[in-house]
Amino acid sequence: MTPTALADRPQSSNVGPDARKWLDANLPDALREDVLQQTPRTLADMRAWEAQLHKAGLVGSTWPEAYGGRGLGLRAHLDISREIGRTPMPESVNSIGKELAGPIIMAVGREEQKLEYLPAILEMRNIWCQGFSEPGAGSDLAGLRTRVEKTADGWVVNGQKIWTSGASKADRILLLARTGTVEDRHKGLVLFAVRTDTPGVDIREIRSIDGERHFCEVFFNNAVVPEEDMLGSPDEGWAAATRVLSIERATNRMHRAWRFENQLQHLVSACAANPATRELVERDYAAQLADVSVNIDLLKGHVETLVGSLIEGEEIGPRGSLPKLFWSEAHQSFAALALEIVSRFPPDMSDPLRAVKLRMEEIYLKARAETIYAGTTEIQLGIIAKRILKLNRKA
Ligand SMILES: Cc1cc2nc3c(=O)[nH]c(=O)nc-3n(C[C@H](O)[C@H](O)[C@H](O)COP(=O)(O)OP(=O)(O)OC[C@H]3O[C@@H](n4cnc5c(N)ncnc54)[C@H](O)[C@@H]3O)c2cc1C
Repeated sequence: MTPTALADRPQSSNVGPDARKWLDANLPDALREDVLQQTPRTLADMRAWEAQLHKAGLVGSTWPEAYGGRGLGLRAHLDISREIGRTPMPESVNSIGKELAGPIIMAVGREEQKLEYLPAILEMRNIWCQGFSEPGAGSDLAGLRTRVEKTADGWVVNGQKIWTSGASKADRILLLARTGTVEDRHKGLVLFAVRTDTPGVDIREIRSIDGERHFCEVFFNNAVVPEEDMLGSPDEGWAAATRVLSIERATNRMHRAWRFENQLQHLVSACAANPATRELVERDYAAQLADVSVNIDLLKGHVETLVGSLIEGEEIGPRGSLPKLFWSEAHQSFAALALEIVSRFPPDMSDPLRAVKLRMEEIYLKARAETIYAGTTEIQLGIIAKRILKLNRKA
């Protein structure tokens, strides 16, 4: 989706209050991340919840109505995102579909692909994962080796992907592969929408530090993908992926700053409600928590500035790296501070303190990866130095 397309869309002044009202009335206790008694969430629960969010108009607000969206502008999306962020609801299990595959399909897909794939993403009939990274190609994505070869039956895929989040739950994988050899670098890269149940696609889960099995390795062994599942043309893969990645880096999970604020407020209010922990944070952590609050405000400013730029039709390009870098570093240091605070709670803590402790411990573990995925901190610093400051690194 181009910035200009977003600029042309109507804005809506009521979407924020409407979203708040709906969420207040409909977010089930079972999905709140700030309560002690959490019931295990199944994939079916999440599909049902996210389909409900879509029906309520809280997902896909900027997508055209023909593809299941509301055809609203980016400002309306920001208004809704603020309200989503203010709640302690779980992150989407289909954020790759909604925030990466969807925009790519809109940018390069054929009309019949848009009509088939896009409503299925919003209605949660299809969950997507992203098959870009490989054992030898993460930061240096142009070094990927997975090959596709055209045959009479379709395209034959061979290779391996890694760190494919959610692949074992996904229906489709957004695959970036090459027609030539690794020496071709950015040339000959092609995108496919591969069904995960295709014979020759082998998905293996990897257990991560938080005990989850969200990450996967995906092996392609002579997997045949039909021609109609190619997105764009051969050779268009790199341009489509990087253009959308830069816009998405700037605007994806736009609710982050407000969710971050919800986490801080949960920690502070739980501590303040108990005399011993109130004394602990007032004595030892007040200044550091105030600093976190400043960072959250700066992050909101980043997001609002970028949204303003996109609405004006400006290219975001390397500026997408600024909020990614700032958010991931600020949130990771908040998570470390929060872990330190909750580890000093008294052993006979109350249920509300236990709930915040469990939440902060989980946030800490998840935050370790935030400075790696969607481009590492070092890569973002390199982009800002080279492309914004025009500084070339000396060896
Ligand atoms: C939680 C999580 C979810 C992910 N989900 C997905 C997914 O769904 N799909 C997918 O395709 N990928 C996914 N990834 C992979 C992610 O995109 C890569 O991990 C990331 O791009 C880094 O690549 P790498 O792990 O190969 O590390 P490398 O690229 O090998 O980097 C190793 C270290 O070297 C540094 N480095 C590398 N190049 C440079 C340079 N030029 N200048 C300075 N420093 C440099 C890096 O900053 C890093 O510290 C996920 C990763 C994580 C952690």
